[in-house]
Amino acid sequence: MNNVDLSSDDISRYSRQLLLDDIDETGQANIKQAYAVVIGLGGLGSLVARYLVGAGIGKVLLVDSDTVEKSNIHRQVLFNQDHIGQHKTQASYAQLRLVNPYTQIELAENQANSSNLPSLISGAHCVLDCSDNITTRKAINAACVNQRTALFIAAASQYSWQAINLRCNGSDSGCYACLLAQTTVQEDCMSQGILGPVVGMAACFQATQALLYLASTNVESGVNPEANPSAEPKANSETQNTWGKYYIMNAATAQFQSFSLPAYKHCEVCQCHK
Ligand SMILES: [Zn+2]
Repeated sequence: MNNVDLSSDDISRYSRQLLLDDIDETGQANIKQAYAVVIGLGGLGSLVARYLVGAGIGKVLLVDSDTVEKSNIHRQVLFNQDHIGQHKTQASYAQLRLVNPYTQIELAENQANSSNLPSLISGAHCVLDCSDNITTRKAINAACVNQRTALFIAAASQYSWQAINLRCNGSDSGCYACLLAQTTVQEDCMSQGILGPVVGMAACFQATQALLYLASTNVESGVNPEANPSAEPKANSETQNTWGKYYIMNAATAQFQSFSLPAYKHCEVCQCHK
């Protein structure tokens, strides 16, 4: 049982998602206690943050070092003309405060890297990788494997998006480094172009998966669910079959594919943690 009660405001504010079997009052109370780190506030992160805060997550840490540029606005939904030149973290904070005054929103004006990630993700119940390059993604993956933190990765380019749900818990599924070792992954390249709604679809998938995971996980404040014996997902959790899966969708042709991501036996990131 979750020991956090929902207020009458919670019941009203989240009434539409409370109707869902995978949320209900227990799941909403879990979301209310949850802490997620969103790395990158571009086309992915700005929408992911909006949905997590809108859904009543207890706490988020928003990590980005960039300022808002005119070319960001077509896909980065938290920003408008008035935000050009502002730090994305500050602009996001101002917008998200208006969405939900009850979420604790913390900011880190940092470029995430292998040095600062261990402290940036410390204590998080999940991490949402909304970065835009493979170097940062590799560093996030390694930090999440080390801390056994659930990781939701997404990326988009042109008309296609990809997403991976990773949880290094001793299963046979691999990590992002395993994927890189076994396949050719295209660098997210803004020079290839991106249609705004396509990256938005990736963000919606990422936020959905994270919210269902957090709703299904009975977390104690500040405690990593992987270290919490009571943190097993609900039996009916819709997310439990998505771990270790790699999803690709072409939004122009509506082709959707999913693959299992097996562990690479020589992976230097995850294999030593088995
Ligand atoms: Zn691996």
